Amino acid sequence: MDSGESKVTVNFIQEIIDQDKKTNKYHGRVHLRFPPEPNGYLHIGHAKSICLNFGLAAQNGGLCNLRFDDTNPSKESLEYIESIIRDVSWLGFDWDDRLFYASDYFEKMYDYAVSLIKVGKAYVCDLSPEEIRKYRGTFKEPGRESPYRNRSVEENLDLFRRMRAGEFADGSRVLRAKIEMSSPNLNMRDPILYRILRATHHRTGDKWCIYPMYDYAHPLEDYYEKITHSVCTLEFEDHRPLYDWVLNALNLPDLPQQIEFARLNLTNTVMSKRKLRRLVEEDYVAGWDDPRMPTIAGLRRRGYTPESIQNFCDRIGVSKSNSMVDVRFLEHCIREDLNLRASRVMGVLHPLKVVIDNYPGDMVEEMESENNPEDPTAGTRKIPFSRIIYIEREDFHEDPPKKYFRLAPGREVRLKNAYIIKCEGFVRDEKTGEIEEVHCTYDPESKSGKPGAKRKVKGTLHWVSAVHALKAEVRLYDHLLLDQNEGAEEQEEEKDFIKQLNPNSLEVLADCLVEPSLAGAAPGSRYQFMRKGYFCVDPDSTSDKLMFNRIVSLRDTWDRILKAEKN
Ligand code: ATP
Ligand code: MG
Repeated sequence: MDSGESKVTVNFIQEIIDQDKKTNKYHGRVHLRFPPEPNGYLHIGHAKSICLNFGLAAQNGGLCNLRFDDTNPSKESLEYIESIIRDVSWLGFDWDDRLFYASDYFEKMYDYAVSLIKVGKAYVCDLSPEEIRKYRGTFKEPGRESPYRNRSVEENLDLFRRMRAGEFADGSRVLRAKIEMSSPNLNMRDPILYRILRATHHRTGDKWCIYPMYDYAHPLEDYYEKITHSVCTLEFEDHRPLYDWVLNALNLPDLPQQIEFARLNLTNTVMSKRKLRRLVEEDYVAGWDDPRMPTIAGLRRRGYTPESIQNFCDRIGVSKSNSMVDVRFLEHCIREDLNLRASRVMGVLHPLKVVIDNYPGDMVEEMESENNPEDPTAGTRKIPFSRIIYIEREDFHEDPPKKYFRLAPGREVRLKNAYIIKCEGFVRDEKTGEIEEVHCTYDPESKSGKPGAKRKVKGTLHWVSAVHALKAEVRLYDHLLLDQNEGAEEQEEEKDFIKQLNPNSLEVLADCLVEPSLAGAAPGSRYQFMRKGYFCVDPDSTSDKLMFNRIVSLRDTWDRILKAEKN
């Protein structure tokens, strides 16, 4: 494992582990697991859980399993399994040979249910789902016992065997734990352990028509794998007594303990597989790896690095109370990372033609340019300069407002790594009124690196040489959701988040121009386009059609927030 080796992150779970080491509870063993259900792609919330589990294992000299909690075949698939494997390993974590499937334990789980029946701790119930709900009671009222609760062991064994054999219709019977119908904890009111469900499982096919429920299956999965600390999110806190009940009924030593932490919620971000699936299935996005998606696949395509995600997960910390993390902090983390390693290049998103009238028409100069001022080892490259260049449309103003230090009639600016130019006039398209081209002169003494270059002008612009530039498509992204707080959805009842979708979350710029060094840029490589942000070459990009995704803009609102807080 290549992460979390040297640094030790202290949080309340680490403190529990420390305590357990002191009391020799697990004979010094630390064994965790990341247990996704393969019913969708992983998202940034899962990344938090992955970093936490694998990170805790690493810093305690322990192990972490990857386990598919595949007990609900109707929503699961091989595609999801494959994506999860790809995403966890891309994030930088390694489970060695410890890849497990809950479905591999179905037989054992069945046997154990049989033992529960034998000791009178489980029974087959014929109430309909509706009746079970009614009998269950409420927070205020105790539940009522099912009329089937006191069936004999023999009858239960026979019915459960026949449930498995496929003799009964879906939903007609369930196996329930016999616990306490008046328990103040609703989860303890004879919870369902098994249901009848005719669904083909992606791994076991049609072998089973009964499937275990999460609350029954999960503690057993942990037990079989000798997990010591079973870390999950807060919504399972009320399920912990049931987790313990299932295991205690086993009557065995070294039981795992469930520990809950607060799930990650991000502003302006949908964070539940169910909702993300809806975005994909109803074509609101291009797929699970759409760069706007908070999925790991989406973040990867957008250009996020595994290191920036790990760093983010580390810095947001682990706590016991739910809260909302500002999505701009995630953006801050990728900016910080790329600032150190992304090459600076020039790309013009909205090109405006500039003719340098006193520059010879047949001349081309190679301008020396630093690849990354933050990285002394990054070296330099040459960028061709010629009489006709393109600058950013917004970098010219015919009637400049106050404090506008870019190009305007009569004004001077520096072209990055090249000359100072002065605007002598411009040509307007008579039909559209749009400015078609700007005419300038250059100061030959002002070349970057020459003595005359010391002359100062206020603005510096990026540019590309018209004959040398490459066409590119650039996609700019904004948050998927307009509503900041939609991420808190788990606590709220469902409002229609589709209404909150940002209609401007994607802007495609088809006619951008980039410097020629980007010819053949490899998919996945990342650059800083000077003054425009960080960009990543899309997997669909080819040398005929370059495509860039903007990861983030350069402006770091988070930096400003931090500074403002200090003052
Ligand atoms: P979702 O609610 O998004 O569908 P889930 O909890 O149903 O997620 P699982 O596949 O069951 O998804 O989750 C695998 C692990 O990831 C669990 O241990 C779960 O607690 C954890 N996890 C899921 N969402 C988050 C989150 N937002 N923050 C932290 N951990 C999470
Ligand atoms: Mg779930």
